[in-house]
Amino acid sequence: MKPYELPPLDYDYAALEPHYSARMLELHHDKHHKAYVDGVNTTLEKLASARAGDDLSAIVGLEKTLAFNLSGHVLHTLFWKNLSPHGGDRPDGDLAAALDENFGSFDAFKNQLTQSAATVQGSGWGALSWEPLGERLFIEQIYDHQGNVGQGGVPLLVIDAWEHAYYLQYENRRPDYVKAIWNVIDFTDVARRFADATRGVLVKP
Ligand code: MN
Repeated sequence: MKPYELPPLDYDYAALEPHYSARMLELHHDKHHKAYVDGVNTTLEKLASARAGDDLSAIVGLEKTLAFNLSGHVLHTLFWKNLSPHGGDRPDGDLAAALDENFGSFDAFKNQLTQSAATVQGSGWGALSWEPLGERLFIEQIYDHQGNVGQGGVPLLVIDAWEHAYYLQYENRRPDYVKAIWNVIDFTDVARRFADATRGVLVKP
């Protein structure tokens, strides 16, 4: 099996300015995201060695490290796709109707996701997810990359709230960063994911 790879961005580093600086995007993608990709591959190699050597004494740490790095890779891959220099609009059609039904209004949805990303304790994410069992949309506050989520939920839109996501440009003002990121959120991408998820089609990050 081929190792996990860092996917290229669909836009230039400077494409999201002034809302997201070129240097911050470069570091975030090339260094931070890449570290999660490398972490997944390294952990899978260690698990393979552990199986081959019939020594699973480190399994607890390895499984935790795998979940952390894989989830970091998945969420960053999704985050870059959720963003676009052509973003900033409101959704329409089925997604807009579903946001109204699940949250009351687009503004109420936006406020809840903004608050979730801005207030997550420590490192984490705010996420809009489709929950297939109850066929509902949820907003979740993800701890690190993998904690505090309902099993089976499909993330459709995520906002990175780790300090590495904003500190270079926004310093300690996380709420200002979250407010600004809405200007580059691409609801065309979110709507496509929503359509796939509600049809039961596997949604790849
Ligand atoms: Mn990040």
